[in-house]
Amino acid sequence: MTRTVTEQELKSSYRKLALQFHPDRNPTNPDAEEKFKEVSEAYAVLADSEKRAMYDRFGHAGLGGGGGGAGVGFDPSTFQDFSDSFGDLFGVGAMFGGAGGRRRSRVQRGADLREDLTLEFEEAYFGTQTQVTVRRHEACEECRGSGAAPGKGPTTCRSCNGRGQVRYQQGFFSIARTCPTCQGTGSVITDPCAKCKGEGRVLRQRSVDAKVPAGVEDGTRIRFAGGGEVGQFGGPAGDLYVVLHVKEHAFFAREGNDLHCVVPISVAQAAMGAEIRVPTMEGEHTLKIPDGTQPGTTFRIRSKGVPVLNGHGRGDLYVEVHVQVPTKLNKRQKELLQELDVLSKVDNQPLLRSLLGKMKDIFG
Ligand SMILES: [Zn+2]
Ligand SMILES: [Zn+2]
Repeated sequence: MTRTVTEQELKSSYRKLALQFHPDRNPTNPDAEEKFKEVSEAYAVLADSEKRAMYDRFGHAGLGGGGGGAGVGFDPSTFQDFSDSFGDLFGVGAMFGGAGGRRRSRVQRGADLREDLTLEFEEAYFGTQTQVTVRRHEACEECRGSGAAPGKGPTTCRSCNGRGQVRYQQGFFSIARTCPTCQGTGSVITDPCAKCKGEGRVLRQRSVDAKVPAGVEDGTRIRFAGGGEVGQFGGPAGDLYVVLHVKEHAFFAREGNDLHCVVPISVAQAAMGAEIRVPTMEGEHTLKIPDGTQPGTTFRIRSKGVPVLNGHGRGDLYVEVHVQVPTKLNKRQKELLQELDVLSKVDNQPLLRSLLGKMKDIFG
């Protein structure tokens, strides 16, 4: 090659040669790999403007690291420049480790956090305004999250020259590893912030206001966008998830948005019907019990259940009646019950009536 070529000419001739000698295209020609390396080396020199300047000044001898004159060697990282334009053509990117060489951004989103919050049943039902204590990393005020001492920005990492990766040669292939010095960011903080020791963030314990809407249930997760760990070096914060645990209620059992409860009634109330007062979460409610109500009968009271979370309406309240058999009867009460029993006909006793009906069917 002449020493004066435009970048366009350079790319064009490299492309031609690379295609010609690419190992994938020459599976039976062992010399092709060697040729391909040579071509690549040549391009590596010429494409790198700094090296090119050295080459123009000193020729090949100028390229040795530290003036050693050991030659430039084969540096596949040069191909990174090609990944976009030629990569698809013959898979340079894949051959040399995919997206290797791309710097990892120093700035990263912070982690999500999870906190648990236990609520009383009432708090879940009505909603509440409470606070959640969370330990999280927040941006350091001193360096505004940069990790560098005031006025001292991060400098280019010398181990990887800002590439974020270091490469190891292994035969024809080169293996890229995340630069251990800069953790792949390509830059290092030489003058760390005294307060956060260069981390850019500090651990804090915070009380976070948590508005719990009405209708949440055990296991509901509330997301607080940006309430998690702040990212390193000024990265955006993750989210905070508050997982709710709701205590059981002494009287009501919840099933979805419906509530269930059991209410005792007397034999007389069940037999003759009654209006009874049943508790709801929001005061008492009058429930009409029809005469002849059997034990275990369940009544539905519409819209006295749990409010629908983030919606309209609410569930229902189911009231199951337990008919109490009287205990500890005195003499007078016994007499009355005895009298009732004697006077009761089959027709007064629905279960017996039904049983006799079935037996009649069976035995004629
Ligand atoms: Zn700091
Ligand atoms: Zn580095």
